[in-house]
Amino acid sequence: MLWLGCASTRPKADETALPPAPIDTTFARAVSTTAQSGMVVCAHPLAASAGRKVLQSGGNAADAALAALATLSVVEPHASGLGGGGFFLYYDAAQDSFFLLDYREKSPRRVNRAQYFLPEDTLKLVQRTGGTAILVPGAAAGWRELHSRFGTKRLPELFADAIAIADTGYQISEKQAAIILEHAAEFLTDSLLSSIFLDQGLPPSEGFRIRLPELAKLLKFLSNTRLDNFYFAPVASDVMAAARTHGGSLDDRDLASYAPVSRAPLRVTYRDYEIITAAPPAAGGITLLEILKLLEAEDIQSMGLLTPEYIHEVATAIRQARTDANTWMGDPDFVQIPADTLLSDSYIEQVYNSLSSDSVPQAMLPLDSLRAFGPGNTTHLVVADSAGNVVTLTQSINYFFGSGVMVPEWQLLLNNHMADFSSDTTSVNGLRPNRRPVSSMAPTMVFKNGKPVLAFGSPGGPRIPAALVDVLLAVLEFDVPLNEAQNLPRFFPAGQNLVVETRIPEATLEALKAKGWRIVPNEHLSNYFGGVQAIQFLEDGVLVGCSDPRRDGAADGY
Ligand code: GLU
Repeated sequence: MLWLGCASTRPKADETALPPAPIDTTFARAVSTTAQSGMVVCAHPLAASAGRKVLQSGGNAADAALAALATLSVVEPHASGLGGGGFFLYYDAAQDSFFLLDYREKSPRRVNRAQYFLPEDTLKLVQRTGGTAILVPGAAAGWRELHSRFGTKRLPELFADAIAIADTGYQISEKQAAIILEHAAEFLTDSLLSSIFLDQGLPPSEGFRIRLPELAKLLKFLSNTRLDNFYFAPVASDVMAAARTHGGSLDDRDLASYAPVSRAPLRVTYRDYEIITAAPPAAGGITLLEILKLLEAEDIQSMGLLTPEYIHEVATAIRQARTDANTWMGDPDFVQIPADTLLSDSYIEQVYNSLSSDSVPQAMLPLDSLRAFGPGNTTHLVVADSAGNVVTLTQSINYFFGSGVMVPEWQLLLNNHMADFSSDTTSVNGLRPNRRPVSSMAPTMVFKNGKPVLAFGSPGGPRIPAALVDVLLAVLEFDVPLNEAQNLPRFFPAGQNLVVETRIPEATLEALKAKGWRIVPNEHLSNYFGGVQAIQFLEDGVLVGCSDPRRDGAADGY
């Protein structure tokens, strides 16, 4: 890097720092799966298997991704589906080119801003629940683009597994039962949701069977006709009626005019690697790149993995990058976003030199992000096929169960992505009609010498870029096997607070406290810190897939 040789004005870390203490490894650990030809890694074994079967029957990465997405919409309906939106990055091996699609949801054109800023609504419930929380879903249009640009197989074949599973039902996992338990009280007042997700009015146990026959009909209808039919009667009318019954303002023009946008992916070098990731309105990509650029000046390897110095440097870089994202990110169709400036050598050098290796800044200007909590639901999938094509895709209905509004005719949960607009009306990400709210999603690929090294992404809301940096540094800087990289304890800065998985040793936490971090213990393995789905591409051509142990997931290859 241009400025690496320049004299840094930044104070040096304490040379007498403690050696790394051993890390607790007594928990359910992630395992890697290897494959020679193709691989699907995602949040549910049934979805991974649906995708892998498509690969094995001659489908490509786009085909397999569509089969897995349709299945995820059935087996993980609380996290993503046709009622939401997302971003995908596709590597087309034959063309040696990248394609990024933004199919983020968009606010209705008749959104009544005043109703979102009532002083008595301190919890922002209008933004988070019911019809007022719902944005125009982008998923059907996003899936259509994936299929029409890159797919080779017909949709009825690709959706067959999803439709069969929705019809006959599937047994919920322990983690899914826990998610339902957390939301069970909300279902009690909704006979539709309780009839699907509760067991005779009570939170179900692991193994309880969920059936979604009306969702099966929706998948059958769209795959037999066109995915675009989501945006027209009868589906659109039913979506609109559900939103309006619950106080929303979606209308038929909002739905009929929805269009996804192809955007240039962000591409930046980090040492010998090229990182390719999502562009705004996904802020996760640029945040990830700024973190890596700030860390590039450091000799990460000599710090040692998860030492106090390492955690301090990474956490400080995360905090700075989040501050910049908070300040500058909005819908790029309306807001000028200084992406090039934020990633330029001169800006990175200036910011790097303003940070200290020894102490935690009191506040970062202008918009320090103190948001430590908040949801991190969502789903991520990665697919690699035998022709070298790769898909990395993140999509969501935002909070688990989205707005809590289900379209009864199709058993379709609608998103609450209105909550991703800033509640500060002056913000560049302020709530306005016809806009896409900023997202933390970051579907990402890492290339070296023109070949893929890693393709990954994660749910986790604001923690997404942090989770990806943790895995990326462990794999690329420390040669840690992918599954062990997933197992390592995570941390996340919010202001001067550092939320940590409690497996980080006490001595390390004490050293971090001495630098000024306020340690906030989370669980020893918490889905708060994301759920990374990743494929690593080894030099001998072997694919290594691994799901995060913090959430459900599976890698399936052949
Ligand atoms: N609403 C979130 C976003 O777009 C979803 C990501 C997540 O919760 O994981 O950033």
